[in-house]
Formats: sequence, structure tokens, C-alpha cells
Amino acid sequence: MTRPKVDSDAFRAKAELLLKNLGRHKLPVDPFAIAQDEGIVVEAKPDTVGGVSGMLIKSGDDFGILYATHIRSQGFQRFSVAHELGHYFLEGHPEALFAGDGTHVSRAGFATRDRYELEADFFASGLLMPDGPFRAAMRRVGDGLEAIEELAEVCGTSLTATAIRFAQTVREPAAVIVSTGQRVEYAFLSDTMREFAGVSWPRKGDVLPEDSLTARFNTDQGGVEARRRDAAEIGLRVWFGARRAVDATEEVVGLGEYGRTLTVITTDTSAEDEDEEAELEERWTPRFSR
Ligand SMILES: [Zn+2]
Repeated sequence: MTRPKVDSDAFRAKAELLLKNLGRHKLPVDPFAIAQDEGIVVEAKPDTVGGVSGMLIKSGDDFGILYATHIRSQGFQRFSVAHELGHYFLEGHPEALFAGDGTHVSRAGFATRDRYELEADFFASGLLMPDGPFRAAMRRVGDGLEAIEELAEVCGTSLTATAIRFAQTVREPAAVIVSTGQRVEYAFLSDTMREFAGVSWPRKGDVLPEDSLTARFNTDQGGVEARRRDAAEIGLRVWFGARRAVDATEEVVGLGEYGRTLTVITTDTSAEDEDEEAELEERWTPRFSR
């Protein structure tokens, strides 16, 4: 099964418009307060099974949200509530998820390939990290992993949700990869990263590149769980099979829960620099060779 095409920008934009209409278009956004204003009862549910992030319950015209607490991160819990708000606010969602009354069980966090789950995830991303305020905040933070950590602090979001949003917003070439063991869970590349000639996008289930820092880092499961971190200079080729040699930085941090690792790859070189170089080479090579 392939990932359904979901227009992530469109669903984030719907969330941002809602924030403007509610007069809540600033960071940090409080999804609990939005639910309260809608008359939705929100409660913690500590005994959910693994993978379940929350539930939306419909009874007549009344709605309730339960959110999982097995992951203690506030960012995760806020995202879970925002995801359920997505099902509540997005056109067509209540009709698709409920035949009359009932309970919808969610697996938020870009983990499933279900269209409605992904739409609610992008809505949650836009709700907690609306474009305007997020871009403004981005101008005040550093680079790479440091930037993502500072933004997570400002937005009250998890490191992974922030990293995905960062990769989809940043102007510079950047990639974020979440992995478990020696396998890729998912990867997001910024537009400018994708512009590099020959860059291929790592897919779910791909084996980590042997020469990457992440592959070495993940052999120590204890380090991943202890949220250890590391960084190294690498070639972009190691990760993405870029046609030309481009210097990059690979930063890695263990995410603790579930033994996942977040990798952030950035480079100061742009695909435009690369084009210029190629063009120069093309222009001069024949003269030198003759
Ligand atoms: Zn859901």
C-alpha cells in the first residue's frame, strides 16, 4: 500500500484559518482551551493500548476527546488532542468516521497511511505550528537540531512533529529522518534538499546507509533510550545518493520512547551553488582538454 496523496499545506492552512477566526493565532497554541470553548470534554486515558494516541467520541451532538498518556511528553499529548480536533473540525470527517454515534480510535503522528489520519495529523501540525508565527519563530532560532529543539520549546510540540514541520518550511536544504534499529520509519526533505541532482528520498523500511552516523548510533540501543546525541560531518551522497559530493552535517538524538532516533541533515551548499559549479566546469573543461 502506498502513502495516499494528502495535500499537507491545505490541511495546515485550514487549521491556521481556524486559529485566526478564534483569535488564537499566536504561539503557543492551547488545543485544550480550543476544545473547551467548543464544549468538548477532554480527559486523559492512561490505559490505552500501544500506538493509540487518542479517541474522539460522538454522542448525538456532543463530542468528547480521550488522549493517551503512555507517552508522557506534553508535546505528544497536545498533538493527540489537536489531531482529534482535526476530526471534529475538518469537513467530512465526522461523517466518514461515525455512522451515527460511536468512538473513533486514532493513531496520530504520521504513522499510518489512512487518509483521514494523515489529514488530521497535518491539521494538528498546522494548529500547533501555524505558518505565520512558526516562520517568525524560525528567524529567531539557530540551525539544524538546535533550531528544532528551540522551536519545540516555543510551540509546545514534540521533537518529531517539530522536525517534520521544520523540514517542510525551512528554505535551506534539510532532511529529517526517524529510524528504529537499522530501518527508516519515515523521512521528510525540504524542497531545496530535493533540488540536488540525484537525491532520492529514503522510504519506510529502507535499511540505514552503512556509512551514516545514525546506523552506528542505533547499534547502541541504550544510547537511544538514554536520549544520547552525536554529530558528524558527512557527504550528502552517504544518505541520498546525490550525484556530486556535497558536504553536510548529520545530527542524531535518541528519542527515548520506543527506541526511536531522530536524524537531522543540513548543508550550507545549495543546489544553485551546485548548478553554478557544474556550469563553470562545463564551460572551462573543453578549453583545458584541448
Ligand atoms: Zn484519528
